[in-house]
Amino acid sequence: MTNEVPVANEIDLHTHSTASDGLYAPAELVRLAREAGLTRLGLVDHDTTDGIEEAESAGERLGVTVIPGIEVNTELPKGLGDAHVLGYYVEYARPDFQRSIHMLRDARERRGERMVERLRALGLDISWERVRELAGGAVGRPHVARALIEAGYASSVSEAFDRYLSPGRPGYVPRYKLSPENAVRLIKSARGVPVLAHPAYIPDLEETVLAPLVMVGLQGLECYYGEYEPETVERLLGLADTYGLIPTGGSDYHGPNMHPTPLGGRYVPESSAERLRLCGEFNHTLPPPPFTLPEPTQQ
Ligand code: AMP
Ligand code: ZN
Ligand code: FE
Ligand code: FE
Repeated sequence: MTNEVPVANEIDLHTHSTASDGLYAPAELVRLAREAGLTRLGLVDHDTTDGIEEAESAGERLGVTVIPGIEVNTELPKGLGDAHVLGYYVEYARPDFQRSIHMLRDARERRGERMVERLRALGLDISWERVRELAGGAVGRPHVARALIEAGYASSVSEAFDRYLSPGRPGYVPRYKLSPENAVRLIKSARGVPVLAHPAYIPDLEETVLAPLVMVGLQGLECYYGEYEPETVERLLGLADTYGLIPTGGSDYHGPNMHPTPLGGRYVPESSAERLRLCGEFNHTLPPPPFTLPEPTQQ
């Protein structure tokens, strides 16, 4: 399946805009997608759907179908690191859903502010106001990285992470995160299609993460991701097949110099986008299961 010839890729299901930590505004991202020859574009900003309407109307003008989505970062059990859950075709206008993701963004703000405090205590002259300004929408560590670069403390986002922002580095502060199961439930509560993002690095993926997530309603696995090697894609396609999951994919494009894969740079087969669409349509015929965000245990 991976040897489908990537003649002209038309699909990218994983991109970010200025609504979270992408560098291009939603309409601009859609314009670039069109320029790259894409006909379908998934917008999955971190913890926010605020870019979707702008992207959709640009898409209507330019002939690009925008697939509404979200990406939710979660914490794996037993210190195994984090896992990201994508939600496609979420009915994002639902008030309960908006309330929940608003709380996740609030946690991002509190954490960002504390990270700036830590960095300032180390003598680095950056300000929380500037970080918020650079973010515009959902604040993330990449915005702190940009403030550090601007002030001359790092020359690239990855250097800023390596020196200050990654776990174990002096500016790092953890933030409230859902469990992957609860991220799946949150997405289901808005009748979206939950998909486990870029799963290749997750240790003991099948037993620890995949099987339990399928039990709570996971419906897709991101197999065609970024720079994944053909062997990795094959392994993930095998797992998707075993668990009846839709194999999705995309570039995780954030703008230049952020992730290595260009917009539309990872081939995603037509069948993936079509299965995803049908699954979204089907989910929208079901009653949405209620979900309440658990109380934060960690701030
Ligand atoms: P946050 O959600 O605020 O914790 O930030 C996480 C985001 O930062 C991820 O989604 C990545 O886009 C980015 N990121 C994480 N680690 C790195 C790194 N080492 N270099 C560059 N970007 C990173
Ligand atoms: Zn990001
Ligand atoms: Fe991610
Ligand atoms: Fe992403």
